[in-house]
Amino acid sequence: MSETPASPRVCDAHCDTLYSLLTAPQKPTDVTLERLQQGGVAIQTMAMYVGPAAGLDVIEQRFEGMFDQLEALKQAGWRQVDDPKEVIDAQPHMLLSIEGCEVFARGLSVIADYRARGVRMAAITWNHPNALGTPHCVDATTGLSGYGLNAVREMQRLGIAVDVSHLNEAGFYDILKKTDVPPLASHSCARALRDHTRNLTDGQLRALFGAGGFVGLNFFPMFLTDGPVCTIDTVIDHIQHMYDQGGAGMVGFGSDFDGISTKPEGLDNPGDFPHLIEGLRRRGFDESDVLAIAGGAFIRYFERI
Ligand SMILES: [Zn+2]
Repeated sequence: MSETPASPRVCDAHCDTLYSLLTAPQKPTDVTLERLQQGGVAIQTMAMYVGPAAGLDVIEQRFEGMFDQLEALKQAGWRQVDDPKEVIDAQPHMLLSIEGCEVFARGLSVIADYRARGVRMAAITWNHPNALGTPHCVDATTGLSGYGLNAVREMQRLGIAVDVSHLNEAGFYDILKKTDVPPLASHSCARALRDHTRNLTDGQLRALFGAGGFVGLNFFPMFLTDGPVCTIDTVIDHIQHMYDQGGAGMVGFGSDFDGISTKPEGLDNPGDFPHLIEGLRRRGFDESDVLAIAGGAFIRYFERI
């Protein structure tokens, strides 16, 4: 008689569902409460995504719109959590994040306002330079601004996880070398397996894991492979590579659902997480690693910071 392992609690470090609900309310979302339940997702990080380049007033309005969308989900029965450690059951909880810190340009004091409104993670940049830093797609060498470094330190003081996905290499190393709290990459892949500036080099991965950081694997096929086929095994190749760079216990998922136009075969929405978890077991990850990758590593990262 074979024993079925307990289904792990899944944590996902990134999706763009709030932005999709705000800007395309008629469009069905990848992330729904039913699919989160079906997939065993205990924590779904919901990003407030900065969107196309615009003035600060316009961006602040978008963020207010996404706070409204979050509120509407809560009215509809979704739960929000401020501290991942508080999640003790397998019911879905939302954790609030920011993708692109343009709104922090108003002054360091607004960071505490966003923290008070539930923001627990923030990516320094999306794909546009801002007052804090420079993204991967502009150059690799411009570090954080002086203001950006101070903003990072203020985020760390307030318990906001500093997210380096989309940031360039110089900004990444500024955070690692000039501040005291390990950052995370909420939705990034390995550059050794897919050569794209959006992905992390082996040097970055080893530095991040050495500091006690975390990486959530992005499911976007464009960042996973330059070949014609992308499957669950392609995702697992990146996870294995990160383990080989010292990432045991520090790697998990950052799906990017509702922010990606294509998906790996068999991994279309949060209801498919069990297929990915089964794939990890098939690949030979032992049950403690499977539990860590599914969600435990994400929760322990927040315990470290
Ligand atoms: Zn992104």
